[in-house]
Amino acid sequence: MNIPFVDLKAQYRALAGEMTRALEAVITDAAFIGGPAAERFENKFAAACGVKHCVGLGNGTDALVVALRAVGIGRGDEVVVPANSFVATSEAVTAAGGTVVFADVDPVRRTLDPADLAAKITPRTKAVIPVHLYGQPADMRAIGDIATKHGLKIVQDCAQSHAAAIAGIPLSRFGDVSCYSFYPGKNLGAYGDAGALVTDDPAIARFARMYANHGRIAKYDHEFEGINSRLDGLQAAVLLVKLPHLEAWTQRRRALARLYDVALAGIPQVSTPKVYPDSYHVYHLYVIETEDRDSLQAHLRQAGIATGVHYPVALPFLSAYRRLGHVPQDFPVSHAMQGRLLSLPIYAEMTDDAVNAVAGAICSHYVATR
Ligand SMILES: *Cc1c(COP(=O)(O)O)cnc(C)c1O
Repeated sequence: MNIPFVDLKAQYRALAGEMTRALEAVITDAAFIGGPAAERFENKFAAACGVKHCVGLGNGTDALVVALRAVGIGRGDEVVVPANSFVATSEAVTAAGGTVVFADVDPVRRTLDPADLAAKITPRTKAVIPVHLYGQPADMRAIGDIATKHGLKIVQDCAQSHAAAIAGIPLSRFGDVSCYSFYPGKNLGAYGDAGALVTDDPAIARFARMYANHGRIAKYDHEFEGINSRLDGLQAAVLLVKLPHLEAWTQRRRALARLYDVALAGIPQVSTPKVYPDSYHVYHLYVIETEDRDSLQAHLRQAGIATGVHYPVALPFLSAYRRLGHVPQDFPVSHAMQGRLLSLPIYAEMTDDAVNAVAGAICSHYVATR
């Protein structure tokens, strides 16, 4: 049995007819940048996120950059970022002109550790970027309290957490501004690069829309210098076709995760993602931890099962951050975790049989190595 890590072709097959019509409408209309599809998507996505404003952008990394600029981050401002994330999270801070400060993650939740966030705050700290990594909501109550106490802006990285919630409240409501990626493999993915930020603050939305469109007020009237990062019409049309399916796809991901939880529960060498009763985890990734990650991954590859590692090197230890001179003891949890993480296949079209086959292959690895 060959099991891919994700299967975007299977998703397309289910949507093909509708997708072709939606794309044709944009092309016939020649509404390639912004336009009616982009506007319709922004309205629908804001509603889905439970907030007032959505600004469509070129990708999720730009969403973070634009959001940081919109909350006023600039030269000399420190922004705290979790040590385990995709590099876009920290890269955006630098691109916005700020200074990256890493904090360790909680060993169980695997998102920003509120205690280490508090420890990293200086008089120059202006914002924090909680990342809801793998689709697991970060501890937003504790992070929110710290942010309030120190006057920090909260820019959420929701690139892996479309439709996630805490105690029934959509995740987007927990930050000053929340940033989404619609990279094709994300839980809601375009057919190319796309992103958005959502916010309840009209000033943030207004600045973001101008900043992402050359600081423009009207044609050839530019109030300040910005960048070019706009949602294009074809990507918006794709997202409009997919958005109504997001809830069902998310429920399917959660059902698959429950199957994995049960099937892997009897293997002492494997720890599965913690389930918090009041968190609506959306399982962008189903990430287990095990001491012999590399040999398990090789065993699964032999069995035709694709896996991933998110991420093999925690951000402070990347060459890109060598200048910060960090050592493993600075981020003990993230450093220990990077050798243990293994992401198993999970996507809405995956069958129960495929999950059982993956779990069976993991079992057979530990029987064989005992
Ligand atoms: C995908 C991702 C991003 C960046 O999104 P792009 O659309 O690829 O620019 C940022 N943060 C995290 C955690 C991501 O997974």
